[in-house]
Amino acid sequence: MSSAVSEILIVGAGYAGSVVARELADAGKRVRVIDKRPHIAGNAFDELDAHGVLVHRYGPHIFHTNAERIWEWLSRFTQWREYEHRVRGVVDGREYPFPINRDTLNALYGLDLDEAGAAAFFERVREPREPVRTSEDVVLNSVGRDLYEKFFLHYTRKQWGLDPSELKAGVAARIPVRTNTDDRYFTDTFQAMPKLGYTKMFEAILDHPNIRVELDVDFEDVRRRGTFAHTVYTGPIDAYFHHCHGRLPYRSLRFAHEHLPDVAEYQSVGTVNYPNDHAYTRITEFKHLTGQQHAGTSIVREYPQAEGDPYYPIPRTENELLFKRYEAMSADERDVTFVGRLAQYRYYNMDQVVGAALAAVRRLLD
Ligand code: FAD
Ligand code: UDP
Repeated sequence: MSSAVSEILIVGAGYAGSVVARELADAGKRVRVIDKRPHIAGNAFDELDAHGVLVHRYGPHIFHTNAERIWEWLSRFTQWREYEHRVRGVVDGREYPFPINRDTLNALYGLDLDEAGAAAFFERVREPREPVRTSEDVVLNSVGRDLYEKFFLHYTRKQWGLDPSELKAGVAARIPVRTNTDDRYFTDTFQAMPKLGYTKMFEAILDHPNIRVELDVDFEDVRRRGTFAHTVYTGPIDAYFHHCHGRLPYRSLRFAHEHLPDVAEYQSVGTVNYPNDHAYTRITEFKHLTGQQHAGTSIVREYPQAEGDPYYPIPRTENELLFKRYEAMSADERDVTFVGRLAQYRYYNMDQVVGAALAAVRRLLD
């Protein structure tokens, strides 16, 4: 027998699946977690590369949240290293603080603005939009055309294969605009990296006598054979329904990892964005994130692409309408809970997935 009716099946060992698994296990349920990949932690998976540097296989992951409850939940499973992420954007061969702040304006335009001066500058150059519907609207409405073209337009085209006018406002609205000189990428109350890495944190989350983890196992093989008390599905929702309404678009990336021996530091901050040059969007140097000491360094370049593993839901109205059709079908699947970035087709950060998973468990246990 490959199944057990008293067991709950969890598809996916990323944040969504692992948080649900732990909460159910703590509540006395027996759970079986499967993942088709050979590792846990989903896209947050990190590992030592061949040179002993801790790297994130699926691109840079920086934890940040304002939700104390989520911070405390994860803090049961890891200690933290305080880390505030900083990013520079390269325009015409020069690096500027990004998100755009007062120092960006002063360096870019040879100005000496104070805070009120920066506010007046934005007020002068912005192109007011009403209503603000698209990512183009968001950026033009706040910083005007020149900054839009220098920092946003081409990055967005590269990242999504779409013009900012074709993406919902929420995509560009992730990036603040500042009149002060704060050059942190995030301003959340809690910003940190798991001290020993994400994978170790996931090992601790899943370390429970009621949890059984099976890797290299695809749901398609299990669903044919198994009967479970309940299934929690965290993969792409359209795949669950065998794409019966057509494929939901997800954006993919190719991660080009590189180790540079004898280079102690490759760049001055964790991530450098290249909005206008190269086929990749950004370069991340992991030692900034992890604080690891090593004679060499490891970096990753992200090359956006249409095909490949689904990493980003693409926030566009037409995609959301297609998602709604699958969501309507999922409401009829009474024995299945759909949760996570792929199953809910939402551009969630890690903390938001933890929040969604905790909410899903509460509903399930009720
Ligand atoms: P996933 O991590 O994708 O986990 C889903 C799992 O389900 C996968 O392991 C997959 O293999 C498995 N699965 C799918 N289908 C099947 C199947 N049929 N059978 C078995 N298993 C299956 N968030 C932040 O907060 N900060 C960041 O800095 C950040 N940076 C990011 C950078 C990149 C490049 C990307 C792509 C994402 C980033 N994120 C970041 C977002 C973060 O990765 C996600 O919010 C989070 O990992 C989503 O967790 P999840 O469990 O929903 O999905
Ligand atoms: N963005 C941009 N230029 C940049 C950085 C971001 O135009 O230098 C836009 C782009 O559309 C990107 C979005 O803002 O997809 C969100 O950026 P974020 O860094 O949050 O993306 P993620 O880390 O999720 O890939």
